[in-house]
Amino acid sequence: MEIQKGNGVKEIETPNNITIKGMLGLLMANTDAKGKKVISLGIGDPTAYSCFQTTSAAQEAVVDALRSAKFNGYSPTVGLPHTRKAVAEYLSRDLPYKLQDDDVYITAGCTQAIEFAMSILAKPNANILLPRPGFPTYELCAAFRHVVPRYFDLLPEQGWEVDLSAVENLADQNTVAMVVINPGNPCGNVYTYQHLKKIAETAKRLGIIVIADEVYAHLVVGANPFVPMGVFGSVAPVLTLGSMSKRWLVPGWRLGWVVTSDPDGTLKSPMFVERLKKYSDICGAPATFIQAAVPAIFEQQEEVFFKKTINILKQTSDICYQKIKEIHCISCPSKPEGAMAFMVKLNILMMKDISDDNDFCFKLAKEESVIILPGIAVGLKNWIRIMFAVEQSSLEEALERVKSFCQRHSFQQNSFI
Ligand SMILES: *Cc1c(COP(=O)(O)O)cnc(C)c1O
Repeated sequence: MEIQKGNGVKEIETPNNITIKGMLGLLMANTDAKGKKVISLGIGDPTAYSCFQTTSAAQEAVVDALRSAKFNGYSPTVGLPHTRKAVAEYLSRDLPYKLQDDDVYITAGCTQAIEFAMSILAKPNANILLPRPGFPTYELCAAFRHVVPRYFDLLPEQGWEVDLSAVENLADQNTVAMVVINPGNPCGNVYTYQHLKKIAETAKRLGIIVIADEVYAHLVVGANPFVPMGVFGSVAPVLTLGSMSKRWLVPGWRLGWVVTSDPDGTLKSPMFVERLKKYSDICGAPATFIQAAVPAIFEQQEEVFFKKTINILKQTSDICYQKIKEIHCISCPSKPEGAMAFMVKLNILMMKDISDDNDFCFKLAKEESVIILPGIAVGLKNWIRIMFAVEQSSLEEALERVKSFCQRHSFQQNSFI
């Protein structure tokens, strides 16, 4: 994990040693400038498309907060009191108990919430249990904090459920937490109440905290409803991470939260609260006027807007799933249930001149100007991650190109064509 250089400077090295953004940049650089228009099924930022725009009411709330000239100063580092209150109330709607305002710590997006959680849990010899495939920010933050990642598999044939026996085998007295991403990136899973309950019971037996990454909360396109992990906060203590980025389609606003979803108060010990506050002091809270707009934004129940986004995601995930069925050398074990991405398996043996997922994605970028993330970047070799939060006609065009790419490179070419 750590390599010593000649000059004594230590460098952080992560297992894959490349971020998603880094990988997508390399793929982009590999496209043919004189070729077709580039379509990316790689980015996690749907706001590039006009069908994924936030509401004017949300934008006005920010403008009003800014114009009031009341929010040009620092906020308390844990967040503005009425912002914490608004988040506590918003999340409590889906819980069997009420969160307190001081359960909430406002962060710069869910990315900083991850960094926050990792930093307060870090201690000498600590390890953390991470899903594979997963979201690479976790291992990156763990590497910086010298927390050792240990990976448990998500099971593709079981709706990407957590391999709980693996979790039991991995944990020891130095395990500080396990991470659960639901709805899931990169798998598109949405876990049932029963599975989440089993996760909580496992965490309880092991005496560890559950870090619940719910940045995609409520973005559900299948049959399973979204159930927050905090529902099981009295089984095992839960740190809920979230943000406005995905549901409100405002990733650039950098407004997120870390919440102690823990009605029994295990995470309210003076020492733990002290750590949360001190780490808030290091981070310094996100922009005050964005925070100030949150209560007004959460009060407007934007059901029409939420439904519109879900409907688009239902359609685009359907298009992906159907199209992938038509392509011989790639397959998908289950329909995406939520979030904005899912994993697709490459059948390398059916391809005549593709050696692995990296090779697939680089050749695809070069020949078809379609950007797709190789699975290895999220911990699963010979799979690819497809984002479906993409405008419909671009998505159809991109998948058509993937299809002809696969036909060109696979042994089982349809002989009638
Ligand atoms: C997008 C994403 C994040 C980061 O959220 P931001 O609010 O944009 O920082 C964290 N976790 C997962 C699983 C994500 O997909």
